[in-house]
Amino acid sequence: MRLVLSFFRKIDKAGFEGKRAGLAGMAYKRKGREMETRIVKIKDKAAVRDEELLEAAEVLRNGGLVAFPTETVYGLGGNALDERAAEKIYAAKGRPSDNPLIAHISCMEELSGLVREIPEAGKKLAAAYWPGPLTMIFPKKENVPYETTGGLDTVAVRMPSDPVASRLIRLAGVPVAAPSANTSGRPSPTRAEHVIEDLNGKIDMIIDGGQVGIGVESTIVDVSGPVPVLLRPGAVTMEMLETVLGHVEVDPAISGPVSKDVRPKAPGMKYRHYAPKADMTLVEGEMERVIQYINEETRKARQAGKTVGIICTEESRGQYPEGILEVIGSREHEETVAHNLFAVLRDFDRREVDCIFSESFSRDQLGQAIMNRLCKAAGYHIIKV
Ligand code: AMP
Ligand code: MG
Repeated sequence: MRLVLSFFRKIDKAGFEGKRAGLAGMAYKRKGREMETRIVKIKDKAAVRDEELLEAAEVLRNGGLVAFPTETVYGLGGNALDERAAEKIYAAKGRPSDNPLIAHISCMEELSGLVREIPEAGKKLAAAYWPGPLTMIFPKKENVPYETTGGLDTVAVRMPSDPVASRLIRLAGVPVAAPSANTSGRPSPTRAEHVIEDLNGKIDMIIDGGQVGIGVESTIVDVSGPVPVLLRPGAVTMEMLETVLGHVEVDPAISGPVSKDVRPKAPGMKYRHYAPKADMTLVEGEMERVIQYINEETRKARQAGKTVGIICTEESRGQYPEGILEVIGSREHEETVAHNLFAVLRDFDRREVDCIFSESFSRDQLGQAIMNRLCKAAGYHIIKV
């Protein structure tokens, strides 16, 4: 059996492409097949006990899928070293199988089981920000299946700080591949109810640990090359990375849409993401003008019979006489904006608005991650006023 597996691990690129076509077919076949999903509620997250997680750990060890809270968003976990578990993750999410998964670990010793080397930049960042909302890309070891890495020779690794996530991974005794626990293309889940909405009946278990803390996905930095490259902004900000590393490059795909023929460094970047069902427009400029523009457009859209959603802030909520308002947070405390962002997008899906207008934020510090997610949600439809 081991021999057969290692043969598959050595399949070349062409072999992998062939396998992928097979996988897509399998995902299709699985679609209609429902299963019972057990929901386990954690009473007190900070004081979570092993007994509450033993069963989930066993499901993971046996190749099953468990959604669990992390400090960023909810993750959909499976054994990162088991190619069939990775296939199940893609099938449950409806995710294209060339969009690689992040392997989650609970301690530094587990890192050496996944990566060929730990470059200096990786050591420094791990010392500064692990456990925490930071993912790093390393050259992968042979035992990490291409199903987990989307066919790449690198592997993405994160050590979460959430007590439930960390304890679950430790109890499972295997690294846990966990993309966000949403249907591919929908906003990432920040509450167990979001996971239930998308994945109930498709996975073995959901651990309900209440609301997550940060609300946007981890920062991703590629440390496998000569210069560290930021692939996705998150709560570990560019400024925080540069404090530790000095110069960090930024992947161009962060600031704009990627053309269909390009295979970007972070393959996830080429897919439509976080999309609310309604058409969304992001309005950038001086605050007074932004509010005026949104009010004018809302009036026109409503006259045309449309339902309009507006994403505003604590500071501006009194200034929109029409439309359905969602307060995303306070400009004075940008972490509240990150925290509520995906829930607001999901709320507008539920209310079935026809179009959404959103205010914008500064692009520094945490604002870089916030604007990155809002731009993607708007399909890069940005109006400068
Ligand atoms: P998610 O887990 O849904 O937050 O998405 C994982 C993100 O990590 C995707 O955008 C991937 O493209 C990125 N990622 C995972 N593994 C790699 C890798 N080996 N190289 C570059 N990006 C990666
Ligand atoms: Mg995701």
